[in-house]
Amino acid sequence: MRVILLSCNTPDLKEISEKHRHFSFTFLVDGISRACSHQLVRHRPASYSQQSQRYVSMENFPYVKPKSLEGIEVSMEGRNYNYDEVMEFLGKVYSKFVEAGAPKEDARFVLPNACATRVLFTMNGEELVHFLRLRTCSRAQWEIREMAIKMLIELRRKFPELFKNVGPNCYYLGYCTEGKKSCGRPDEVRKFFKNLEEVNVQNN
Ligand SMILES: Cc1cc2nc3c(=O)[nH]c(=O)nc-3n(C[C@H](O)[C@H](O)[C@H](O)COP(=O)(O)OP(=O)(O)OC[C@H]3O[C@@H](n4cnc5c(N)ncnc54)[C@H](O)[C@@H]3O)c2cc1C
Repeated sequence: MRVILLSCNTPDLKEISEKHRHFSFTFLVDGISRACSHQLVRHRPASYSQQSQRYVSMENFPYVKPKSLEGIEVSMEGRNYNYDEVMEFLGKVYSKFVEAGAPKEDARFVLPNACATRVLFTMNGEELVHFLRLRTCSRAQWEIREMAIKMLIELRRKFPELFKNVGPNCYYLGYCTEGKKSCGRPDEVRKFFKNLEEVNVQNN
């Protein structure tokens, strides 16, 4: 996964807050799964452009591999398959449909959520903070959380003062808003976001 902060129009702001809806931030995210991009685009006050599966051939499609599926084989009709073999099989099925004359936009129906994609998106400051509060939280699914943390790292690199207090609610507000679903580790999480560094958050 690659996350790049492409542009922003923040003049000399002293702090970022939910009032900063007049400033926008554009990111390019590459190598996330369609499962992840589906969660991303649920955030409504934003603009998105996503790589097309109608026009771009998905032959030998790149995909994201969850760590939890590594080393597991599933048995079907007397044969064992690991994750990579399943992806290869689906890629071949896709190609066969295209070879048989199916349009790419229909052949893609056999493709999995794992398919990697590229998304260009723009959020204003208010939405960006809202997104980061929700998606850097350890309740968020690992891939979108990893993406949100990489976005926050980029933002802190460029605007350390503006984003130093942004993170999940326990860090941003000083208390957890997740009730019974809280991870119960607020001190650990706050420490992590105070000294933010790149981590692989899969299954963490
Ligand atoms: C941990 C987690 C688990 C989730 N699980 C599920 C799940 O199981 N199933 C599921 O379907 N979704 C799930 N979601 C997605 C979630 O329901 C929201 O769709 C997503 O987080 C977008 O957030 P949002 O609605 O707060 O705001 P955004 O779309 O980011 O908008 C930000 C804010 O703008 C305002 N706003 C935006 N659009 C409107 C509008 N049309 N009208 C009025 N106000 C608006 C609201 O105040 C909103 O909070 C999950 C999200 C998280 C973080």
